[in-house]
Order: sequence, then structure tokens, then C-alpha cells
Amino acid sequence: MSSEKGGITMTNRFVFCPECRQDVKFSVKEKTDSAKLKGEVFEFSAKTAFCDECGGEVYVPEIEDENLKALYDKYRQKHGIISLEDIRAIPEKYNIGKRPLSLLLGWGEQTFSRYYDGDMPSKQYSEILKRVLNEPSYYLELLENRKDNLKSEKAFEKSKAAIASLLNIPSVKQSKLNLVVEYLLSRCQDITHLSLQKALYYVQGFYKAFFGSFLFEEDCEAWVHGPVYRDIYRRYSGFCYNTIDSIGDPDISLMPAEEKVLLDSVIRHICCYSGKTLESFTHVETPWISIRGNLPAEASTNRVIPKQIIGEYFTSVKDKYRMLTPANIKDYAQDMFSKI
Ligand SMILES: [Zn+2]
Repeated sequence: MSSEKGGITMTNRFVFCPECRQDVKFSVKEKTDSAKLKGEVFEFSAKTAFCDECGGEVYVPEIEDENLKALYDKYRQKHGIISLEDIRAIPEKYNIGKRPLSLLLGWGEQTFSRYYDGDMPSKQYSEILKRVLNEPSYYLELLENRKDNLKSEKAFEKSKAAIASLLNIPSVKQSKLNLVVEYLLSRCQDITHLSLQKALYYVQGFYKAFFGSFLFEEDCEAWVHGPVYRDIYRRYSGFCYNTIDSIGDPDISLMPAEEKVLLDSVIRHICCYSGKTLESFTHVETPWISIRGNLPAEASTNRVIPKQIIGEYFTSVKDKYRMLTPANIKDYAQDMFSKI
């Protein structure tokens, strides 16, 4: 039921005329017609195709589709059912796929796709779709509350960014920690959620050592497998041991040069190791050890590793290895690797 198929493209088309018994060109005429739908009669503007040779009526599937759509549009108008155009505007508005949208709405996987293709929703479903289209804040609520329905971090992030710009709210992506995460993901081909956590910890530690302040506010906790930033863990742990896909290049136009230099050095000299290797690095470093204290190796904890301890430790590392620039992070990483 696509109206784009009508009009211009058809003027060059031939269809079979049963009268002439051959393919012919045709002309389209429009007139008011009436038809019954769900027990009611509707008047609508209907098109008919006529053979250019004999003037007899010919059958053109696209025109029949258009007529059917025109009839359904009348029904939709009368009963206040959302229009097909409005249904199709929803996935575009919120940058979400048809299937994930259906799941967010708590419907069957294919339900939204059916409406998108022309099926008419019930009044009840129609009201939901209208509300989703017209109230971005309602959609945002659905997106956040039913995030787990999506089973795709990427789909969530994409749609969240679209809605954030629609609502003109500072996106979660604009926090420094999130920007760092995006930067790492976009530049490391094979980063896992385990190695991402370690990279964040080294970024935080070395940034403080070289530039005197912490890059982000968030604290990490001394988990069994090393320091963990809890929110980031929640976001990416679903990837398990798989590589986390980048969701695209972050906007780094406002990123100061020293941040970029430090991040690039961590990417080059730290992210080249596997998550497990980096775990063994962190397990012999003071910050994690001192906060774990006497906890058994497998005991989970939410004890925070204070930023101060991380800062002091990496400042001492910088001094010990006589590092002059962030490029010297290489010396530390290689030395750690040689000792495991
Ligand atoms: Zn004909």
C-alpha cells in the first residue's frame, strides 16, 4: 500500500489489456467512489486505469493498493485511528528499528512492522502509537523502563541520543566518563567489557599523575576481577567476553589535547593487552589490593577505591619510571607484562 508507486513512474509502464490481448500503455482517471469497510460505507477518491488503445479498464496492482489505502484512510479519519504516515514517522523520529520498537511497546516482535506495512491497529493500539509519536517524554520513559526488552545496547544508545536531542536535555553521552568510554570503543577494535573497565581505571590514574586532576567524577569499586565502574559495567556486561561494538565516532571537537594524548597512549600501550592480562596487572597494584584488604579472592564487594588512592599510586608510578610524557605509559605496561 505504498503511494509512492503511483504517479510518474507508472506513465512509462505497460500492463496487460485483456481486450487487446497485449501489453498496453494506460491512463489514470480519478473519481469519487464508495465502498464498504467493516460494515460501514465510505466515500473516497478512487483511481481507475484505462487502456490507451481500446479505452477498456485495465488492472494495475499499485493503483488498487492506492485505492485500498484511500478507503482505509477514510476509516482511520472517521474513527480517529493513527494514519499510516504517522506510524511510519515514529521509528524515524526516535531512531529506532521496527522490531526493537515493537519490543519496547511490549508487543509481539512483528506487530509494529505489520502496522508499518499498512495493517490497521485497534483503537487501543492506535492511541498508544499516537501518544508515542506526540509525547517524546512518554517514549523516553518507555525506553528507560523497558531497556531490557531491547537486548541491544547499541539500539538503546542510538535511540537515547535521538530522544535527548529532541528533548534538548543533556544526553548521558555528554558526561566525561561516557565520552571517554565512547572514545575508547571507537578506537579499539577488540575491546571487551573487562578490558574497558581496566582502561578507564588507567586513564583516571595516569591522567591525575600527569595533569594533576581527575578526568571524571565517578568512582570504581574493588570487584573480584579488578576495579569496576558500576554504571559502565551495567551498560556493557551483556557483551560478556565479546567485543563491544562502537556506536560511532564521538564528538571530540571540544576534547583538550592533553586528554586526547593520554587516551591515545592508554589505547596504544594498555588496551593492547587482554582483559585477563590487565586484570593480573591490577591485582598487584596498591589501590585494588589495599581496598580488598583481607577479603577472600572470590568475595564480591562494593567497596569504593577512593580516587585519592588511585591518584597517589599512579603519581608514584610516574615518578618510579621517570615518565616525562603519557607516551611513557608504555614503560610501565611492558614492565608489568614482563612480570606476570
Ligand atoms: Zn485495450
